[in-house]
Amino acid sequence: MTLQFGDLESLQGAFVEHQTILSRLRISDTAISSCLVKTREDLAKCDALIIPGGESTTIALLARLAGLTDPLKAFVQAKPVWGTCAGAILLAESVVGAKKGGQELLGGIAVKMERNGWGSQVESFEAALDIEGLRDPQRPFTGVFIRAPVVLDFMEDPSRPPIEVLARLPSTLLPHSGKEIPTPTASPSDDTSVSTGNQRTVVALRQGRHLLTTFHPELTKDDRFHDYFVRSCVYATLSRSPVEENKPN
Ligand code: GLN
Repeated sequence: MTLQFGDLESLQGAFVEHQTILSRLRISDTAISSCLVKTREDLAKCDALIIPGGESTTIALLARLAGLTDPLKAFVQAKPVWGTCAGAILLAESVVGAKKGGQELLGGIAVKMERNGWGSQVESFEAALDIEGLRDPQRPFTGVFIRAPVVLDFMEDPSRPPIEVLARLPSTLLPHSGKEIPTPTASPSDDTSVSTGNQRTVVALRQGRHLLTTFHPELTKDDRFHDYFVRSCVYATLSRSPVEENKPN
């Protein structure tokens, strides 16, 4: 089986880093290849898509100029998509803090996000994260946050798959927004459903075949998040699933 992954063009996005990690994955009898998506034709060849970090407004503009906005919206409705940082913003249903003139979104994940939600003091930082469902869960994953967005809320919609929280930050690292932030009381595994409040601590989540991370897994040497996306989000949409059978411990 061959899986073609696309990485949406973004002037500042980390295409090479995503591609390097994807090329390292060894998953059953599956050949994984990836390409840069600049045109509808590129997109049409893909089984799954990664929307990288960068600048969400610029990515949306480039997509619009390339005639990709509607094909991307259709792709999101049909196939797995992972949005990292700016890409996560594009996958949201609603965003606050958009630039003047607005922010075009693709939708796909029922969350409301805030651009640059960490404020100017802590625009970029790293944090050790416990992530649900990754190989070797005792080993923390280094979350690299670069002018990251914040998940403000989940938007309940019983007709859509449940939102699964994969990782939270400790509330002590949350941005100072002047608002009262409730202390998290649950671990990610205890709190996987919609509307428990305190969504601002959420930094990685999954809804059905789509994945959202407000940080940059491609900027580490750790391939576990890419491995998770391929196994759990992409294969879940295919009729045949050789991966689960060969899943490492
Ligand atoms: N702040 C950027 C935006 O709003 C995202 C930054 C990133 O992708 N690292 O689009």
